[in-house]
Amino acid sequence: MSSSETGTRALIRERGGPPGRAELVLRGGSVLVMDARGSRAEAVAVAGGRIAALGDDADVAGWIDPGTRVVELEGRAVLPGINDSHLHGSWLGSRWPHTLFGAPDPEAAARVRGALVRDRAGRRAAILRAGRMLAEYGITSYTEPGVGPGEDGGETGCFHSEVIDVYRELAASGELLQRVTLLALYGVLDGPSDLDTVLRGIAARAAAPAEPSPEWFSVPGVKLFGDLIPLSRQAWTERAYDDGTHGDLLVRGDSVEQKAERLAEMIRAAHAAGLQIGIHATGDRTVQLALDAIAEAAAAPGAPSARSLGHVVIHGDLATEAQLRRMAELGVWCNAQSGIAAASDEWLAGMMGADVAAEAWAYGAALDAGVLVLSSDAPVLGFDWRRGIADAEARIVRTGGSATPEAARERLHRLLRAYTAVPAQQDRAAAWKGTVSAGKVADLVVLARDPFEVGAAGLPDVPIDLTVLDGRVVFER
Ligand SMILES: [Zn+2]
Repeated sequence: MSSSETGTRALIRERGGPPGRAELVLRGGSVLVMDARGSRAEAVAVAGGRIAALGDDADVAGWIDPGTRVVELEGRAVLPGINDSHLHGSWLGSRWPHTLFGAPDPEAAARVRGALVRDRAGRRAAILRAGRMLAEYGITSYTEPGVGPGEDGGETGCFHSEVIDVYRELAASGELLQRVTLLALYGVLDGPSDLDTVLRGIAARAAAPAEPSPEWFSVPGVKLFGDLIPLSRQAWTERAYDDGTHGDLLVRGDSVEQKAERLAEMIRAAHAAGLQIGIHATGDRTVQLALDAIAEAAAAPGAPSARSLGHVVIHGDLATEAQLRRMAELGVWCNAQSGIAAASDEWLAGMMGADVAAEAWAYGAALDAGVLVLSSDAPVLGFDWRRGIADAEARIVRTGGSATPEAARERLHRLLRAYTAVPAQQDRAAAWKGTVSAGKVADLVVLARDPFEVGAAGLPDVPIDLTVLDGRVVFER
């Protein structure tokens, strides 16, 4: 297929400076830059862990010397390293392959209970194991959403605040195989949190020193729990479940009104402290509350804008189209896992009606609003981002998205960006990662075939050949 048939643009040429010695050159393929325009190159040179040049083979020739490793792509594709922007690293490393949804052996997965890691060595081993598995999938960044003192007494041990220390240690020793962004947790996981405890945690987090190597490990903010999930009838919703209830908020309080006011107070406090907020919110009422509280906090005199902090609605299962547009206005991300929709669509229809299920997981509207960030939530689901893209595409088409080849190509570009360039924006790191651009870090993945030749549905069958992190090959098939 020619490049014009794949809906791509003219070849881009960039150079970070005069040619020097590259440690790595990839040439003779399709370098998918993942900028908004859909730029392509044919070759890329890496020097000092950074992208030094991109263009055609002649543009990188001057960077090659006898010490340079040259990879002949022979038509294969290069993408920016994948950024799984919601993934529980230490839990994944200690549970795999027992995912919560779609486990290869569901009975064995159901038997996984109690403590999975008990000490520092166990936490370290789990993170390193997850890192090796993720490197095989081209994943070079992830967000660990919710680790901290709130879970120091937690059942699995995977969310204990010592995990933060282990990440810091691995970042310092250069052993991390992904760049990690972590959201600190002061409430409890999937349970009701206490207002005063969370407010004290927010104050402590705001006063904490910055991490020494933020390109490898940073803690920009906090994880808050708004509500639980629709399937347990615990998402807080406008429309009723089949038993007449509307769900609830995960905040301690005497009434839902009091819980709502307390959750809004947590959000306003975190915002005023300049922290990024990742709020677990699945019901439309919870999403509305979060957006209203963020808007109110941002309107306070001298407060930072919501966009500058990059808050994240995590899951957003029942977010309405109007709410998705509001997120775009405010600069709030909707971080979604398409495998959840694939696994629970029929279940939701049974519980809330076919019309509610059809309007849920509105990935097409989220893409159009420019707020969609895709992630796996592993080990809730598997961490195969190729499957995540295929599932998102299937959901969008099934809920009315255009199925023309041109629309599908355009959408594939945007879905790939939702796993690369857009999560770099969520990390507030788009200036130095997320696209294949001169001067940015050399985090790259080589796929055996060009995704635009196979389409979203064919993507899960495309082998991952090579993963490059900071200019180093960390996986090779
Ligand atoms: Zn999660």
